[in-house]
Amino acid sequence: MEVLLSFLIVAALSVTFVDGAGYLQVRPPTLGQCYYEDINTAHFSYNRTFCEGPAYWCQIHICWITCGSNERQSPINIDTRKTQFRLLPMPKFYNLHKRVPATIRNTGHAPEFNVVQTKSNKDRIILSNVPGRPKDKKYVFAQLHVHFGRDETQGSEHCIDNIFKPMEAHLVFYDLDYGNLGDARSKKDGLVGLGVMVEVRGNPQKPTVCKNGRKCKPRFAKRFSDLMEKYYEQVRCFPLEQYRDYIHNDRFGFFRRRNSRSKKYCGGTLSQNYIQNRCKKDPDDNSLKVQVTEGLSPKDVLPYDTDLFYTYGGSLTTPPCYETVQWIVYKCPITVSSQAFNMLQFVEDSQKDELIKLGVRRPIQKNRKVTVYSSF
Ligand SMILES: [Zn+2]
Repeated sequence: MEVLLSFLIVAALSVTFVDGAGYLQVRPPTLGQCYYEDINTAHFSYNRTFCEGPAYWCQIHICWITCGSNERQSPINIDTRKTQFRLLPMPKFYNLHKRVPATIRNTGHAPEFNVVQTKSNKDRIILSNVPGRPKDKKYVFAQLHVHFGRDETQGSEHCIDNIFKPMEAHLVFYDLDYGNLGDARSKKDGLVGLGVMVEVRGNPQKPTVCKNGRKCKPRFAKRFSDLMEKYYEQVRCFPLEQYRDYIHNDRFGFFRRRNSRSKKYCGGTLSQNYIQNRCKKDPDDNSLKVQVTEGLSPKDVLPYDTDLFYTYGGSLTTPPCYETVQWIVYKCPITVSSQAFNMLQFVEDSQKDELIKLGVRRPIQKNRKVTVYSSF
């Protein structure tokens, strides 16, 4: 019924809009299809009962076939009985005291903070000494976003011994040698992701006991909480009107929905050449961005006890699901205000539904073999 309704809404909108071409800025509203040919129109969702949902991401577009891999897809359950202790290098931050200029936008799937990239390294926040990567490799801080679920208590993407937290913040860093996030994300070892579990202040939580008996003291991340309260409000409404040409172009989409999706390419590998030529979306310079006047720092989000973490080689948790991310998932959580959590839940997606309806989290992936190392 829900699906049928969304088709009808698209069809209804279509007849009211005038002709026009134009490309898509962020992520477009769904056309209610199971398969797309044009990467600019391809759409995925977190609706588990629909063919655009997580179980079918690998079938939606040829550029997303990696989502069907069973090698190193993320997120995973971190089973502490199987993690391997290693004397791991401690990730080192440069310029962590700095606040870098950033913007926030509503991508249609979730709000995301993006660091405004500068040319000079002295103005960048850089991470090195990353476990699993050459010691002196430099990764540039580029993005921050938060995952959460339909179930208010289970919204993190990773879980530890099958225990989820209400939210999980992701700090994304790219290999400086690749120049920018967009180019780095498909490249071998292109990204580093820091995952921080987020709880809601005041809500009772089971204390997180660490293997060695050290208890986690959740840090109230005041700055981050304030940023969430202030800026999620500002990007809450999804500007559907920006997509009218797009919706219009599919005015008969209701009748010619493509369903010729195929599972046969799922888990396959794309060449870099193919990715460069066929999988790049048009630039989205026109999307609505709001300046984050306070700037941004990973410090806003990091927990106490950053020496306690798990790490493994995984993937992006949204299409195209490239297996290029070294994940560092911190053991200890932070907390934010309930207002901050609410503001996130009520942000609209590209269907103008509140995010809480479907949540913003990919289900746990089963891989053939992923080794998770722990620092403690
Ligand atoms: Zn993420």
